[in-house]
Amino acid sequence: MKETLFSVGPVMMDEDIKEIGGNQLPYFRTDEFSNINLNIEEMLKKMCYADKNSKVITLTASGTGAMEASILNCFNKEDKLLIIVGGGFGHRFAEICDIYELQYDTIQLENGKTVTEDIMKNYEGKGYTGLIVNAHETSTGVLYNLEMLGKFCRKNNMYFIVDAISSFLADEYYMDKWGIDLTILSSQKAMALPPGLSLVILNERIIKKINHNKVKSVYFDFKLYLKNMERGQTPFTPAVGIILQLHKALTKIEEYGVQNYIKDIKERAKYFRNKIKDLPFEIPSESLSNCLTPLKPKKNNAYDVYLYLKENYGIVLCPNGGELKDTLVRVGHIGNLNKENFDGLIDALNEMHGKEII
Ligand SMILES: *Cc1c(COP(=O)(O)O)cnc(C)c1O
Repeated sequence: MKETLFSVGPVMMDEDIKEIGGNQLPYFRTDEFSNINLNIEEMLKKMCYADKNSKVITLTASGTGAMEASILNCFNKEDKLLIIVGGGFGHRFAEICDIYELQYDTIQLENGKTVTEDIMKNYEGKGYTGLIVNAHETSTGVLYNLEMLGKFCRKNNMYFIVDAISSFLADEYYMDKWGIDLTILSSQKAMALPPGLSLVILNERIIKKINHNKVKSVYFDFKLYLKNMERGQTPFTPAVGIILQLHKALTKIEEYGVQNYIKDIKERAKYFRNKIKDLPFEIPSESLSNCLTPLKPKKNNAYDVYLYLKENYGIVLCPNGGELKDTLVRVGHIGNLNKENFDGLIDALNEMHGKEII
């Protein structure tokens, strides 16, 4: 059975992007390939609404590699960090800080809850030097108020580090206006590319800090990447094929308009949420991203719902792991999905409800 993915990465890919993946790769230490990298840098900066003096680093690593590399390059033992932990991805930043023995405190949120200005007030004037957050906590489907957090950072003279991996191109994102110093992106989410490539966008302020920070890593030293990117290159062999696919994808998005691209995903999310109103699901998030809808079945085991859809309809939702495995399943709205795909999913859910499976 041909499967339709409503996952959050990898997601359904466009035909022309898949085709590129079947081609012979070019040698990459060439002017042609440098120009592609520089062009990607320009397009990404525009799509993130980054300052014109910002820089882009291309890492051949999954998103977690870029999360680890960003923390490692930006901070040292003198820093005092604040991490918002609303689920698995927030927790990952805490793990990274533990490994590198960095000082940090967490703001621990209950599943489905967002962080408010009132909560942040407790952390004012406490000498923190950086705030680290996932724009969208993908494990529970909570989108944070980055504009509010950005203001908090400016007021308290903190660096603002945002993992926007599952929010970029699904939700509005204004790096410069919201005072974000560093943005982390990854290829397999709304960019709808194969996994393996991550991108870090840095403003001048954080570049200055990075340039003064000694890093103990061969592969992940951002100074090397920044230096090489001046000529459109990377220090090590990059995922050449995914870079070519990224170039094509961004060129298409730029032509179509980034706001239109976001709007389409938002429309899909709205359509789906509207159509399942009468089904026995709870949507346990107080601040949803357009990227996905978290569903908590009122009667059934969430993982069983995932299995049933996959086995009987070839519909693949995004199950949760860990403590949420039995209670939460997520429906992705990103990637090459159309209204018919969602109608198929909605029909299947209605049929399951009719048979009292849900
Ligand atoms: C997907 C995702 C990541 C990256 O995870 P990898 O498996 O390492 O690619 C990081 N942060 C968030 C918020 C994500 O959604």
